[in-house]
Amino acid sequence: MKHCKICGLGEDYTNIRFNDDGVCNYCEFYEAHKDMLEDTEQLEQAFRQKMEHAKAKARAAGADYDCLVGFSGGKDSTYIIYQLKETYGMRVLAFTFDNGFSTEYGRNNIENALAKLHVDHISFSMDDQKLRKQYSACVKLLHNFCSVCFHYMHYYSYRFAGQHKIPLIVNGRTSGQILQCADSTRGIEPFESCNHLKEFEYQMFHGLEERSDRAGRMDYLKDIEAEAVSYFAYHDVSEEETMRFLEEKIGWVRPQGVSGHADCFAHAMAEHMSIEKRGFPVRTGELAVLVRRGKLTQEEAAAMLQQDFENFREVPQETKDRFYQRISI
Ligand SMILES: [Zn+2]
Repeated sequence: MKHCKICGLGEDYTNIRFNDDGVCNYCEFYEAHKDMLEDTEQLEQAFRQKMEHAKAKARAAGADYDCLVGFSGGKDSTYIIYQLKETYGMRVLAFTFDNGFSTEYGRNNIENALAKLHVDHISFSMDDQKLRKQYSACVKLLHNFCSVCFHYMHYYSYRFAGQHKIPLIVNGRTSGQILQCADSTRGIEPFESCNHLKEFEYQMFHGLEERSDRAGRMDYLKDIEAEAVSYFAYHDVSEEETMRFLEEKIGWVRPQGVSGHADCFAHAMAEHMSIEKRGFPVRTGELAVLVRRGKLTQEEAAAMLQQDFENFREVPQETKDRFYQRISI
């Protein structure tokens, strides 16, 4: 198989193209915008301005909170809440979407973090039958189900922000997640930010949301305006730094065992489906971003992906059963 000579992505990767020098379209895009994407001082300043703008807006609207943050109990959301409150002086409302996939580890982290962070928190769940139908349909059609969680998490964030006049929603997508399929600036932070759910879904799903919109299947809450900002598009913090910081500040506990996402019991299934359908693990594009940025070597990324193949090519029957039980109608 052909591989990009800079980031190592293979020719089976989503919408990849290679130039005559064997460099992929994602590396070309990164190289063309590197100065801006790596100017950490400028980016932090832009983020700070957004926070000040949100505070002024919340004050003017008489809102009780300056921002809403999706809170899974994982390291990224916990870290962001800490920073927003302590470094940026934001009044944060933490918001957990209870999707029925949480783990004991995640729940313990939520409890511990809330006791230390002193922010208000709400947890909500939606009609379970409706949710099961969406998961089942998505698995059948797309061999994927994480997008259902993303959609509802953001849908309800926007609804809640609208109801409570909260002007800003901060999310914990990593720079790898943001840039993994970036070959144009459209809908990509920090180049473009968005103020409506539909624009945010464009960032997440790249066009899939337009097809569903035309079909009239989605309610995009057109009247609700809130800026959606990805903390890690403006801050260069490694996973290791995030974890160390939280261990020190709030006695956070690292997940044990297989890679990341310890706050969702279905993560192994998501990986398994990605390998079956797309031929590569979930974090393939995210690791390629780290290679492009010089944070990992191609060999290190390849070894991590090899580990994912070994961990998730097969999943235990017990995990499969539990997953299908959770989504069955
Ligand atoms: Zn590349």
